[in-house]
Order: sequence, then C-alpha cells, then structure tokens
Amino acid sequence: MKLGKKIRYIILPVIVMVSFLVSAVYYDVYKTQIIENKVSSLDDHIENILLRNKYELVYLKSYLRQKIDSKEAALIFNAKERKEVLAAPYVTQFLNRFIDNDSRSNNIVNDFVIYNSHGELIIHVNTQDPFAEPVLKKQTKKILERVNDKSTDDQKIAQYYYFLDDTKDADSHRKFNVIQVFSPYLLTSKQFYDKHYDLYLVQAEVNFDFIETEIKRLMEAHHGYLQYKLTAKSDITEKISLTSTPFQLKDNDFYQGGFGSTLLDIVFTLDKNYFSENLNNILMKLILLNIAIIILSYLLLVWIIEKQIILPITALAKSIKEVEATLVVDLKPLTSNDEVSDLNQSYISLISKINTLANNDPLTGLSNRGSFNEKLSSIVHLNKNSETYIALFFIDLDNFKSVNDTFGHDTGDRLLVVFSQRLTQTLRADDRFVSSDTINSIARLGGDEFVILMNGLPSVEAIESIGKRICDLFQNGFTIDNDKYDVHASIGIAYSNDTINDGETLLNQADDAMYLAKRDGKNNVKLFSSDIKEKMDKEKMIETELTNALNNNSLFLLFMPAYNTTTLELKGYEALLRCPALMDIDIGPDLFIPISEKSDLILTVDLWVAENVLIKLEDLVKKTGFNGFLSINISSKSLRNDLFYTRFKQLLASYNVNVKQIELEITESCLLPDDQQAITRLTQIKSLGVRVAIDDFGTGYTSFSQLVHYPLDTLKIDRSFVKNLHSTPVGKKPTLDIIFELAKVYQLEVIVEGVETEADFDHIKNLGCDIVQGFYFTMPRRWSEVVSECGLLAQTAKNKD
Ligand code: C2E
Ligand code: MG
Ligand code: MG
Repeated sequence: MKLGKKIRYIILPVIVMVSFLVSAVYYDVYKTQIIENKVSSLDDHIENILLRNKYELVYLKSYLRQKIDSKEAALIFNAKERKEVLAAPYVTQFLNRFIDNDSRSNNIVNDFVIYNSHGELIIHVNTQDPFAEPVLKKQTKKILERVNDKSTDDQKIAQYYYFLDDTKDADSHRKFNVIQVFSPYLLTSKQFYDKHYDLYLVQAEVNFDFIETEIKRLMEAHHGYLQYKLTAKSDITEKISLTSTPFQLKDNDFYQGGFGSTLLDIVFTLDKNYFSENLNNILMKLILLNIAIIILSYLLLVWIIEKQIILPITALAKSIKEVEATLVVDLKPLTSNDEVSDLNQSYISLISKINTLANNDPLTGLSNRGSFNEKLSSIVHLNKNSETYIALFFIDLDNFKSVNDTFGHDTGDRLLVVFSQRLTQTLRADDRFVSSDTINSIARLGGDEFVILMNGLPSVEAIESIGKRICDLFQNGFTIDNDKYDVHASIGIAYSNDTINDGETLLNQADDAMYLAKRDGKNNVKLFSSDIKEKMDKEKMIETELTNALNNNSLFLLFMPAYNTTTLELKGYEALLRCPALMDIDIGPDLFIPISEKSDLILTVDLWVAENVLIKLEDLVKKTGFNGFLSINISSKSLRNDLFYTRFKQLLASYNVNVKQIELEITESCLLPDDQQAITRLTQIKSLGVRVAIDDFGTGYTSFSQLVHYPLDTLKIDRSFVKNLHSTPVGKKPTLDIIFELAKVYQLEVIVEGVETEADFDHIKNLGCDIVQGFYFTMPRRWSEVVSECGLLAQTAKNKD
C-alpha cells in the first residue's frame, strides 16, 4: 500500500475518534452547565418574585398609610361620622390621591374600602370600575368581629391582616387582600379629627399582577414544560413570611422548586424533557460541527503530510530508482531540515561509499579492476586515428611474496600503500608528458599487480621514459623509513596510436610484456611488440601441451645408455623426458623444460620423472638384476624448492630401490657463483644416499675452486666440448682435456656426453675418461629396449658364469 494511502487510513479514524471524544466530553460538561444555569435562573426568578413581593408589601403599607393619613381622609371621616355630606371638592381631592400620575399607584390597589369598627362604610374607591359596589368580604367581617370583641386584648389586635378572598378573576386567581386596622389618633393628620373615633379598617384588594405576569412569562418561556401548583394555606394571617425552595431533581424525572408564604405555596415543576429538546439541538449542532471539523482537519492534515512528507519521500524514491536504473548518482541534498532530508543525505553518502567500495581498492584507495576496465573500454573507443598514444603500464612487484612471508602481511600492505602513493606522485610530478588529462586511471588489479592507463602521450620514447621513472622507485630495493626491502618492479607496456577495439587485448599485451620483463631480471621495463606476442603464444602453447600431457599421463621417458669407456660395459642410463604432442612439432625438453621452469609446472614435471624412474628401476632390478644407475635430470628451480626435497624423500621411501643406483643431474648453467643455497640443497639430497652429478659442466660460472664445496659424485662435461675437439687448433690442448684433468684432480667420476664419432671416442678413450655417452654408441632407448638390453646382459653374464 502506498504511503499516502496508508497515512490517510491512519489519520481518518484518529481524527474521528479524537473529535468525537472531545465532543462527548464537551457535551457532558455543557449539559451539566445548561441544567445548572437553568435551575439557578429559575431560582433567581423565584427569588425575584419574593423580593418584589416583600418590596410591594412594604410599599403597599406606606401607600395605605398615605391614603388614610391626610386632611381629606380626616374630613371624610368627620363627615361620615357626623352623617354629613362632605363637600365634593374634598372627595375629589381624596380620590385624586388614588388617581395621581403615578401609574403604579393606580394599579396597586383595585378596590379600597374603609369601614368603621361597626362595619359601616366610610369610603370606597375602585380604581378599575367607578361604579363598582363595595363588598364587605367574609374575612374582613371576621377581622371586624375580632376588633370589636372586647375580650380580646387591645394589644393583640394586629395592625395588618392578609387573606386571599374567594372571588376569582378571569384567570381564576384569588385576590390578595390587605386589611389595615388603624386609629385616627395615631395618624399625623389627627388634628383634623373632630372627636375621638374608634378604630377603622381599610379593606384593600391588592393588584399583585406582577406575580401572575411573572409566572405566566415563565410558563411561556418553558413551552409547557414548566407547571405550577398553588396551594392556599391559612385563611387569614397577620404576618406574611416568604420563603423560597431552590429547584432540585426529584425522582430523576423532574425538577421542583418554588416559594411559600403563610397564605399559600407555589410549587413549580420543570419537566426533564425540557432539557432533552434543548440538548438535542445542541447535540445536532455538535455533530454537524464535528463533521465539519473532521473534514477540514482531515483535508488539512492530508495536504500538509502530502506536501511535507510524502512528496519529498516520493522524490527521493524516484531518484533512488533512477540511480538504480542508470547507476549514475545524481542526488541533490534536500534543503529542508527534517528526517526526510537526513534520509536523503544518508542515502547520498551511502551510495558514494558503495561507489567508492565498488570502484576502489580498499587498501590503496586506487581504482580497482572493475572501474579500471570501465575506463579502459571508454578510452579505447576514444583513441581513433590519434596523433598521440594510448599506453597501458602493467606493473608487477618482484619478490613481494617474500616480504609478506618474512615481515608479515602488515608490512606487505604498508609497502603496497607507500608504493601506490609514490607511484601517483611520480606520475603527477612528470610534467613533461603527464598532465591530469593524460592519466586516466591508476589501479591495483590485486596482489602486487598495478596498472596505469594513459592517453595523449606524444611518443614511444615518452612512454618508455615514464616506465623507467617508475622503475627508479626501486633502485636497490624499496625503502620505507630507512627499512630497505628487496622488492623491484617488472613493468610491461602496451601502447597504440591507432584504433584499438579491445581493451582486453591492450591489457593482455601489457601483461605479456611484463611477463618478459620479469623473466629478463628485476627492475625491468619491456614494451610489447609482435615478436613478443609470437614468443608468448608459443610458450603458452607449450605450457598447455605439457600440462595436458601430465593430466593425460601421456609423457614418457627415453633412456640414454652410459658406458665404461675402456670396457664399454653398460654403467647405467640417463632418463630423458618426452612429450608426444610436442615431439610431433619438434619440440624437445631443451625447449619445454625452460618454459615449464617459468611456473610451478616444473616441480610437477620433475617429480613425475623421479617417480617414474623409481618405478622403472624397481621393475628393471626385479626383472634383470640390473645393478647400474639411472640418472634423473632435475631443474635448478626444483632443487631450490623445499617441496621437491620433501616429496622426493617420500618417493624414495615408497619404492623398493637401492638409492645408490639413483643419480640426480643438476645443470651447471643454473648454479650461481658461490651458490650457497644450491650447495645446502645438494648436501641435503646427497644425504638421502643418492648420487649427485653436475650436468653440462663448462657452460656455467662454476670455477673448479668452487667445485670442492659441492657434494658431487660425478661431473658431466658438456657435449659442446666434444664438438669443439676437432676445431681445436693443432698443438693446442682441447678444453675437454683441460676440464677432464682438473676433474680428476678433484677425484670426480667424469662422464663425457655427446660422443658422436669414432674419432671422438678414440680421443676420450685415450684421455682415460670413465664413462661415455653419445649417439656414436646408441640413440636414446625406449623402455622396452632397456629391459631387453639389460635382460640380455644379465643372461650373458649368467652364461659366462
Ligand atoms: P642433458 O641432460 O645434457 O641431456 C643430454 C641431451 O643430449 C639429450 O637431449 C640427449 O638426447 C642429447 N644427446 C646425447 N648424446 C648426444 C650426442 O651424441 N649428440 C647430440 N647431438 N645429442 C646428444 P634431450 O633429451 O633433448 O635433452 C635436452 C636437455 O633437456 C637435457 O640435457 C636436459 O638438460 C633436459 N632434460 C631432458 N630430460 C629432462 C628431464 O626429465 N628433466 C629435466 N629437468 N630436464 C631434462
Ligand atoms: Mg643430463
Ligand atoms: Mg647434458
């Protein structure tokens, strides 16, 4: 699933959940708040009504007092008591007190009646209906009775009485009445009274509309959810005490509150459904708001995530795919300062590291084989019909392995690193031909092999001089911090100023040239030429054939007999190796042995010959009782190899032969002057009990004085001296004679090989030589011939006996 889609799936439920959770909490708090608000508002209303009530009562009392405590009232009282008719202006004045500008006063009392203590009407005013008749209400009568009851203590007569009458108005409300009992002598207007009058009684039907209005308003405001119940209590009361009951939840179903007085209780009931309706509205609004918030925040979040995260990641992923497809690292660092930018940066450095690892040799930091090959193929195509040369230098360090073996791999590694640094510096310092454009690559192919690819070199001389310059780094070995290592460089160079289609060919040519440089000695530079190519091809072919013959076991041995010079008695045979495939093209051991010596192949060859000679000797002795020697030619390279000695020793032990019948021949030309290593080896081999011969003596550098140091049994004089016998000027002693005489001084057995003619033989016979070999006597024999010859000789000897 794409990241963008995944994020959408994740954030949508989260937003919905959070949003609804917040809404639920909000709704719950809001619901409690609404109920509390409503309840306290209802409580406030009731409290208001109560306060108003109290206030109105106070006001009413002062109002009533004001009505009775006046000159006009006194005059009316006087007139009434005297049964006189009062002058109209006084009545009007009195009435005007009710109908003044204060509209509140107009409304507060509907009906105002004053009676004397006998229940006689003194004055009546109805503010609503001028023609209304005064009514002495049943409760008023009761009060009058109480006032007139002499048994009642005067003191116990209250000043005010309150009651609700039975007459109901259109709204079925019972009218509130206040009765004030007063004595004129207690009034401030008492001076206007004629005589002592008894008590009077004011019956005031009060218009307390505001209570009804308020209740009505509350009812309307609550759409029928609010009900009220009025319960009348006592008939008449002297004191009105007002108390309120706050709204409370009853039976978990409705809220109840109200107020009460000594006359009546009013209980309000608020249906719980009142809130449901209200809250449902809010819930609806909340849901809509929620949906809007969810949609908006979802879109906003998706947009932000898309812009800030998905887009940079998509861009990075796209770049990574491009890198994968093209292998060209073209990633730009992102400017943002976030994790995506870090990821991008890490990817860039990772790719560069991978590139470095993929293209560079970890030890030296030079290019590796892979990146070198890439360079090679690209440059080869460029160099078309150019005036300048492309050159490839193949450097192989000589003797590097022995540094590793002697000083350890750390030293070996250090040598490679220092060499690569010096190589780079040397090339860059050579500003005669080398510019930074010229060097295309300096690479380590592996081990101690380095290559340099250069383009734009002006001449072959320039190429050669660069090669020599590299060689100069190894004059008298390679020195690091005063430590000198016996390491040199063999450098092969291939070059061209023509189109070369194949970089591999150039590399192979340089490799071949290096091979020859190495063969020709240390610190050598060789330029590739077509001769070299031919030579190399031939050598490779010979090496291949020889390897094949070893694998197919098609190699075989011929045996060159050696005879006692005087008696021509058979003394032994020299084993000579033959490779059938090479024999067919006239290539013998004198050619293929030196080639096999260039690799470890020679060890295998020499051990093969040694083992086969041992097998044959065992067989011959068994068949014929042969008691002569079989000699084996050993390459000086095998002689110097530890493995040869070990394996040869094992072979001797494996076959049932008399070691004294074995002779090893080492060619003298391969021995160095004062060759201590060879002397040690030969001594070791001699200690195995075999005989040791120096072959082709006279062709090398060994002086007679040195011969004494070699553990020798036999000296084989090179056949060239036999050949030269006839070209020796008359009167001069042939070299052969001189060598022979000296050999005798050292008491060595001497074999002269290459005797081809009777004259040769005669000369050698006269010389007193021990043993002879040569085509004069016989050509090298096949093994079957050897067996027959030895069998015959054994038979002859037997017959003689
Ligand atoms: P070498 O050890 O001096 O062997 C004598 C060579 O001279 C042989 O050649 C032999 O055939 C040849 N020869 C012997 N008598 C005469 C003669 O009268 N006239 C002439 N013209 N040649 C004569 P071959 O077999 O071709 O061997 C050449 C060289 O190859 C040997 O010289 C030896 O150095 C090397 N070689 C031969 N076989 C082996 C071998 O098994 N192992 C090693 N390492 N080298 C071998
Ligand atoms: Mg030989
Ligand atoms: Mg020889």
